[in-house]
Amino acid sequence: MKKYYLSFVLLTFSFLSLSQQSFVNSEPEIDKGNCREGESVEYCLTHKKMKEYHQKNGQHEKSIIDNDKVLLEEALSKVKDGSIEKGVIYTIPVVFHIVHNGGIENISDEQIFDAMEILNSDYRKLNDDANFVVSDFLNIASDSEIEFSLATKAPDGTCFNGITRTRDVITFDGSDPNHDAPQVTAIVNGNDVYQGNWPGNMYLNVYVLADVGGAAGYTYRPSGNFGATMNAGIFIKNDYVGSFGTANVLKSRALTHEVGHWLGLPHTWGSDNNPGVSSSCTQDDGVDDTPLTIGVTSCSRSSNTCNDLTPSSNVSTSWNYDVVDNVENYMDYSYCSKMFTQGQSDLMRAYLNSNISGRNNLWRSSNLAATGAGESVSLCKADFSVENMDVCSGEQVQFTDLSYSNITAWEWSFPGGSPSTSNLQNPVVQYSSAGTYPVTLKVYSGSASLTEVKSSFLRVLPAAKTLPYFEGFENHSSLSNNEDWSLNETAGARTFTINSNTSFEGDKCLRLSNYYETVPSVDELISSNFDLSSLSPEEEVTLSYRYSYRKKATTDYESLYIFASTDCGTTWNSRASLRGSQLSSEVSSNSWVPSSESDWSTVHVTSINSSYFVNNLRIKFQFTGDGGNNIFLDNINLYKGAPSDKSVLGLDELSSFKELTLYPNPVASELNVKFTTEMNQDVNINIYDISGKSAQKQLIKAIEGSNLVLLNVENLSKGLYFVNISSGESSETLQFVVK
Ligand SMILES: [Zn+2]
Repeated sequence: MKKYYLSFVLLTFSFLSLSQQSFVNSEPEIDKGNCREGESVEYCLTHKKMKEYHQKNGQHEKSIIDNDKVLLEEALSKVKDGSIEKGVIYTIPVVFHIVHNGGIENISDEQIFDAMEILNSDYRKLNDDANFVVSDFLNIASDSEIEFSLATKAPDGTCFNGITRTRDVITFDGSDPNHDAPQVTAIVNGNDVYQGNWPGNMYLNVYVLADVGGAAGYTYRPSGNFGATMNAGIFIKNDYVGSFGTANVLKSRALTHEVGHWLGLPHTWGSDNNPGVSSSCTQDDGVDDTPLTIGVTSCSRSSNTCNDLTPSSNVSTSWNYDVVDNVENYMDYSYCSKMFTQGQSDLMRAYLNSNISGRNNLWRSSNLAATGAGESVSLCKADFSVENMDVCSGEQVQFTDLSYSNITAWEWSFPGGSPSTSNLQNPVVQYSSAGTYPVTLKVYSGSASLTEVKSSFLRVLPAAKTLPYFEGFENHSSLSNNEDWSLNETAGARTFTINSNTSFEGDKCLRLSNYYETVPSVDELISSNFDLSSLSPEEEVTLSYRYSYRKKATTDYESLYIFASTDCGTTWNSRASLRGSQLSSEVSSNSWVPSSESDWSTVHVTSINSSYFVNNLRIKFQFTGDGGNNIFLDNINLYKGAPSDKSVLGLDELSSFKELTLYPNPVASELNVKFTTEMNQDVNINIYDISGKSAQKQLIKAIEGSNLVLLNVENLSKGLYFVNISSGESSETLQFVVK
C-alpha cells in the first residue's frame, strides 16, 4: 500500500507568558515634553489639535476667541454678579461611545460607571482628596455645581444605558491627520444603539479608543467654529477612563481635565500643550484666581515657577503674594489633581450660559427629557449576562444584571438551576445536568416592570469525555451541531467552519477563511470538557492535531496558540504556540487550500502535564490573524502516552451500536463487519492504517436491527488496521489484521 510521509513537527513546549496582543497601525510621534513624568503618552492634545484645526481651515484662534468673547464675557459677568443664579445645578447628558476591535479597549460598563462617579464627585467637590488641597487654595477649591448623567435615550428615542459600542479597527489609529474624526464616522455608521448624528448640543460625546494620537485625551473648547458638531467631543484612551479595569487611580482624572477643556478652560499656564516652559509666566489662562505658573508634569506641591507679584502687563492675577503653583488643579498635568478654582467654575458656568457650541442647550429640562438624563431616567430595559455561556456541571455561574434605570426589584427564574428563582440583583446559580437552559429576568421600577426571556441561554456541557479522544470533523455538517466544540471570535468577521472540499483524512476538516478575514483577528475553537482525573501523575498525555497553512506574503506574522483550562474555561494557560514562520514559511498569494497530504503538518503537544489531570480540562485553539492566508485543522487527538504520529482513536465511546464484531480476523480478502443499531441511520465505516491514514471508507444506510457489511480488503497490504464505525454522536473502533 501507499506509504505516507508526514511533515512531522514534535514540539515539547514550556510555559509561555502570553500578553494581550497589541495591534498598532501607526506609531505616533510622541512629544516627550507633553508627557507626565513616567508616562509615554502625551497627557493632552487639546490646544495642539485646536491649533492644527484652525490652521487647516485658514482660521486664527485669536479671531475665534474674539468672536466668542462678547458672548462669553456677557455670560461671565452675569455669573459673577449673581444675575445667573448660583446654587442651580446644571446636569449634562453624557454618552460614551466605545470603538473597539474586541480587545481590552472594549472596557466594561462598570469601568464607565466608575468614570462617571469620579467626574461627578470632582465637579461637585465631593472627591475625598479635596480636603487635602494645599492650604493657600482651600478657600477657592470650588463646587462647580455641574453634574453629569448618562443619557438613556438616543437621538431617535431608542432606550440604552448611555454607552454605545462600535467594532472597528480605527480604534487603533487616533492620529486623525485630516481632522475629520474617522472614529466618529465609524460610530455614526456602525454603533449598536442608534446609527446617525449625536448632536453636541444634546450630548457630551466621549469617544473611548485604543489610541488617541499617542495621547491620553483631547477635545475642542467651545467655539463658533466647531459649533455643535459631534466631532468636537472628547477623545480619550481607554486606560484613562475610570480607576480600574484597564485604567488606574493615577490616570482617573484625565477625563475631568478634558471635560474642563470642553467647558472652556485652558491649561493653568495658558492655551498650549507645553508644560514647563519658562515663557509661560507671561501668558494668561484668563482665570484670575489660578496663580501664574508654567505647568508641571509631576506632583511637587511646593513648586513656584512664576512670581505672582510681578506679572507682565498682559497677565492678570488676583494674588497679592507670591503663592505657590496650583499643581493640584485639574487643568495642570500633575498626578495629584483634585480641584477647580472658583474662577474656573465661574468660567465653565458662563460657557454653559452661552450658546457657543450649543452649550446652553445641554442642561435645559427639554434636553434632559429628550436624552433621558438627570431626573428623567426611567425603567427602559431588562437585560443580563454571564461571563461564559458554556459551563460545567456544578460550576458556580455568576449572573450580572444589566437592566436600567432606577431598578427597585429583581425576579429571576432559572429552570433546571439551583436555586431556581432569586430576588437578588446578581445571583449565583449552579446546574447539575447537561443541556441548554433558559433564563428569565423581570425587573421593577416601583410598579412598572419589564421582562427579558433568553430561551437557550446557558449550555451546561455534557459529561466529561475520557481518553482517548479523536475528532476528525466527519460526523457533522456544522460545528453548531457538534457539542464537543464551541467557537469564540473576539476580533474579526470570520470563524472556523466545517469544510468538505479538502481534508487531511476523511471528507471534512475545519477551515478558517483567514484570506478574507478583517485585520487584526482572533478566532478560537474551544473543546468540551475532558476527565483526566483518574490518571496518575507519572502518566503522559499528548494532544496532537493536523494543520495546513500558508502565508499570503512573506512578512505575515500569524500565530496558532494552544491553551488549556483546569476550571472549565474560566481561566486559560498557554501550552504551545506556532508563530510566524514556525507556522509556515511558505507563501501562497491565492486563497490557500491544501491539495495533498504533504500540505499538512502534524503537531504533538506534550505539555498537558499532571497539573492538568483534572475532571474538567478544556483545550482551546486560538488563531491570531494579521491579513495572511487560510488555516485548516483536522484530526485532533488527545490520548494517553508519548507522542505518536498515529491517530489514537476513541475506543470506549458511548455507542448506539451493539454487538459490533469483525470476522474473520486475521483476514485475507473479505472482512465481515456486523453490528446492530437501534434505528435506521446513516453509518460511516472507515478503515485506517496504523499511521492514521484512511485506507477505505463506506457510507451505509443501516436499518434498525442487525446489519452486516462485507468489505473487500484485498488491496490492503499486510498489517494492523482499525475500523471505525460512526453515526451522529456514536463511534466505535475495533482493530483487525490483514494477513
Ligand atoms: Zn489639557
